[in-house]
Amino acid sequence: MERWWQAAADLVLGASCPLCGSPGGRVCRRCAASLPPEPAQVSLEGLDVVGAGIHVGSRRDALLAWKLGGTHTLDALMAHHLAAAVITLLGAERSVTLVPVPSTRRSRRERGRDLVADLAAAAARSLGTIGVDATAVGCLRLVRETGDQHALGRVERSRNLAGSMWSIAVPEGPVVIVDDVVTTGSTAREAARALVAAGAVEILGAAAVVVASAGSPPVAGHPPDGLRSR
Ligand SMILES: [Zn+2]
Repeated sequence: MERWWQAAADLVLGASCPLCGSPGGRVCRRCAASLPPEPAQVSLEGLDVVGAGIHVGSRRDALLAWKLGGTHTLDALMAHHLAAAVITLLGAERSVTLVPVPSTRRSRRERGRDLVADLAAAAARSLGTIGVDATAVGCLRLVRETGDQHALGRVERSRNLAGSMWSIAVPEGPVVIVDDVVTTGSTAREAARALVAAGAVEILGAAAVVVASAGSPPVAGHPPDGLRSR
């Protein structure tokens, strides 16, 4: 409903940059230039994680507009940022399989699409334009709906997610798990566990549009680990 309303408003009022409101059908040059990918790498309990930036300031605002506001005009910017994060993990590799973390049914219904799967596909296309043989493979499934992560600490979150995913295929070659936001890394680690259980041997790490640092504000309306909200 919201996207219909937005599309109708754009028709009547004229489309605008979703970040600053200046006229145009997409993110304006000034806003795009003010938000360059600035990859930040962390190791979260043994898993290398790269975000194209830290979850603060205008980067956080852009993510919220995309994720909660249903702003499709931010798709290209988000894919560009995710691609930059993936590149950081690739090293000398020139091929990669991107595996999106699975969304809940509820989230797909609320958003009208599988946000992270679409993001992975767009990032793969983006990587292709610079000569990286990238494929997005949505092989992970949720075994069960996980409980609300919101009030849980790191250990409880991992326990809540343990065994919650399985893979219907074995991705070949180097694999990067992708998500929009990584906070504690519990979701990405569960994805890695499921892929290894299926037989994946070369998991380079996880890439996201943003990583939340210790000082980052929580994603509004979203539990720290995301699974319920995606
Ligand atoms: Zn703008």
